[in-house]
Amino acid sequence: MVEEYLLLTPGPLTTSKQVKEAMNFDYCTWDDDYKRITQSFRQSLLNLAQVNKEEYTAVPIQGSGTYGVESVISSTISSNEKLLIGINGAYGQRISEMADVYGINHVDLVVDEREPITLELVTEYLDKNPDITHFAMIHCETTTGILNPIEDIIPYVSRRGIITIVDAMSSFGGIPINVQENQIDYLISSSNKCIQGVPGFSFVIVKKDILETTKGLARTLSLDLYGQYYEMEHNDGKWRFTSPTHVVHAFYEALKELDEEGGVKARHQRYSNSQKHLAKGMEELGFKVLINEKYQSPIITSFIYPEEDFDFNIFYQELKKQGFVIYPGKISQVPTFRIGNIGEVYIEDITKLLSVIKDIRE
Ligand SMILES: *Cc1c(COP(=O)(O)O)cnc(C)c1O
Repeated sequence: MVEEYLLLTPGPLTTSKQVKEAMNFDYCTWDDDYKRITQSFRQSLLNLAQVNKEEYTAVPIQGSGTYGVESVISSTISSNEKLLIGINGAYGQRISEMADVYGINHVDLVVDEREPITLELVTEYLDKNPDITHFAMIHCETTTGILNPIEDIIPYVSRRGIITIVDAMSSFGGIPINVQENQIDYLISSSNKCIQGVPGFSFVIVKKDILETTKGLARTLSLDLYGQYYEMEHNDGKWRFTSPTHVVHAFYEALKELDEEGGVKARHQRYSNSQKHLAKGMEELGFKVLINEKYQSPIITSFIYPEEDFDFNIFYQELKKQGFVIYPGKISQVPTFRIGNIGEVYIEDITKLLSVIKDIRE
């Protein structure tokens, strides 16, 4: 028997009892009831994205978040097009690796992991590379917890006639994003982050007229975004291959709970309150936050090791024994660890965590 603990990680995360209970049954697939659930959550996602339903569609893809990103990169960009990628962490880097795997022309705009991608830099790169056709960036770079200013950058890039791709994996559902107003053509997120479901699929919110032009571009069968869209549109929500039925039911419940909480705005408020409480409390205990407060997301926070001989593993084990699981760091320049506050995590949990850390450090 595993000891129970609260996940203070960026997903998979701690889900509600009802979300877990929604999986306690072996559901059938293919039939009308199941397809109705798929169609219904696709509509809910469009509401969360604040888009016009005539112009946009939501397409789920089996697998973790990376599969959704890889679906967009591998099946919507042709070999005579060119992708600019804003990179300030591991997830931006991952898109560059995907472009390499598929032989897609790409230019990498690499920024220090502690700094945001800026409109100024993007403009400079676009001016230097007039043949760029697509632009991809990460909203919340979970590597550090930095929030990149998509609202400054994406509308401008779109006005230049470039197709825009946003990895909003760890922010969608937890930070309000107006996809339509910001002219985001592809937005990717997954079931197990701010919507607070369990892992098993990702989804892409995409402008229909753009998706329609990508027919036949896929380099794989299973990650063909247009293929999945076509099947769902022509067969009332049928997934092309076995869908994660339990995960879908849990997701459906999680969307209901997001609505009951008061929607994305209310959830954003809860996350922000928890993050601020966490950062302040940790600084009082002698831990420094890596990212400048101006760019810090409400999702996950990186803390610099408090002393050179700080032993993360001992710290991690102590916290786990007391019911909290935190996350190692992921950047090279400075040794850090991370604490997430998304999921069924409330301000009282952060208060308790801070008191446990205080005891450990004394
Ligand atoms: C979680 C995450 C992903 C996807 O990672 P998976 O491990 O495949 O779920 C992609 N981008 C960002 C920014 C993420 O936080």
